[in-house]
Amino acid sequence: MHIPFNKPFLTGNETAYIEQAVRSGKISGDGLFTKKCHHFFEDKYGFKKVLLTTSCTDALEMAAILLNIQEGDEIIAPAYSFVSTVNAFVLRGAKIVFADSEASNPNIDATKIEALITSKTKAIVPIHYAGMACDMDMIMDIANRRNLYVVEDAAQAIDSYYKDKPLGSIGQLAAFSFHETKNIISGEGGMLVINDEQFLQRAEIIREKGTNRSAFFRGEVDKYNWVDIGSSFLPSDIIAAFLYAQIENIDAIQAKRNTSWQAYYEGLKPLQDAGKIKLPFIPKFATNNAHIFYLVCNTVEDRVALIDHLKKQDIYAVFHYLSLHKSPYYREKHDGRDLPESDHYSDCLIRLPMYFELTEEEINAVINGVKSFF
Ligand SMILES: *Cc1c(COP(=O)(O)O)cnc(C)c1O
Repeated sequence: MHIPFNKPFLTGNETAYIEQAVRSGKISGDGLFTKKCHHFFEDKYGFKKVLLTTSCTDALEMAAILLNIQEGDEIIAPAYSFVSTVNAFVLRGAKIVFADSEASNPNIDATKIEALITSKTKAIVPIHYAGMACDMDMIMDIANRRNLYVVEDAAQAIDSYYKDKPLGSIGQLAAFSFHETKNIISGEGGMLVINDEQFLQRAEIIREKGTNRSAFFRGEVDKYNWVDIGSSFLPSDIIAAFLYAQIENIDAIQAKRNTSWQAYYEGLKPLQDAGKIKLPFIPKFATNNAHIFYLVCNTVEDRVALIDHLKKQDIYAVFHYLSLHKSPYYREKHDGRDLPESDHYSDCLIRLPMYFELTEEEINAVINGVKSFF
C-alpha cells in the first residue's frame, strides 16, 4: 500500500471561491476573501489583528522589522526549529543565541532561557513544535521581567491552545503558516498576528511596501506616500479564496486529524511501554492540534533503519530538523555550547504520514510497519 508522507486536502470549494475572486475583478491583495479570512481568525481566536502574508517566513520577517531588530541585537530561539524562525532576524543583522529543547518534548526549554539573556537581547522566539504549546507563562514572565518581546512561531499551531488561550494570542506578535504541509493550507501562505497595539499601524505599512496605502483605502489620508521601510508581504486574493475554503472546514479537518493521531498513539503505545520508542509528550497546559505525529527512536541507527524499513513497504516517514546551531551557515557563528536535546531530536525523531485523508487501513499499515521493525 503506497502511503505518502503528506497529501494536501481540498475541501471542494477552493476553485469555486477562486472563480468568485477572479470574477469580482479584484485579485490583488486585501480583496473580499482576504477580509473574510482576517475576520474569521480574529473572531474565532480573539487575535487583536490579523494580516495575511505570502508565507509564515514573511510574517516572521515583518515581525523582525516591527521590533526594529538591528545589527548586533540578540534573539533567543530553539536550535531545533525550521530555518525561517531565525533567518528572519538574521536578515536584520541579529545574532541568534540558540536554546536547547526540553528532554520531554522538542519545545524550547523555558528554564534555560534566562541564563542566555544579555543587555543585547531583544526577543524570545519560541516555536510550538507539532502545534503543542511551549511553557508560555514562564516565557512571558521572563520576557516581562527582562523587557523582551515574544514572537510566537505558531507555524504549526493553528487551532491549538495553552491553558485556555489560543496559541498565537500570547506573544506581542505571532506567525502562522498555510504551506501545503500544514493543517489548513493555501499552497504557500501565512499570517502575522498582532496582539500589541503599538504595532498595528506600522504592520500595515510594512506589509504595503512601506506606504500608508491601507489607511488611504480606508479614507484616513488623502494620498498615500512612502513613510517607512517595507516590502510586498500581502498575498493575492486568489490565495485568500483558497484559504477561505479551508478555514470554513477547520473543525472537520481538526477532528479527523485528531482521530488519526489518537489511533497512532494507541497502536504504538505498547512499543513505548516496552522502551523501544518514545511517543509525543503533551504537557498538561497544552492541547494537541494533530499537526505532526512523531516518535523518537532510542538511537540514530534505529531511526535510519526504521525509515528504510517503512520505505520498503512503500510507507514514507521523514525526519527533521537538523539542529540550526550545527548548520553550515551558522556553526561558525554559534557560541559553541552543546545542545544535546536538540541534537537528540535531530538524530532520533521520525514523523509518520499524517494528512486529512489518512484511512484507518493506512494507519494500521503504518503501525504494523513500525511494530514489525521492532
Ligand atoms: C512551516 C514552518 C515555517 C515556514 O512556513 P512558510 O509558510 O513555509 O514560510 C516556519 N516555522 C516553522 C516552525 C514551520 O513549521
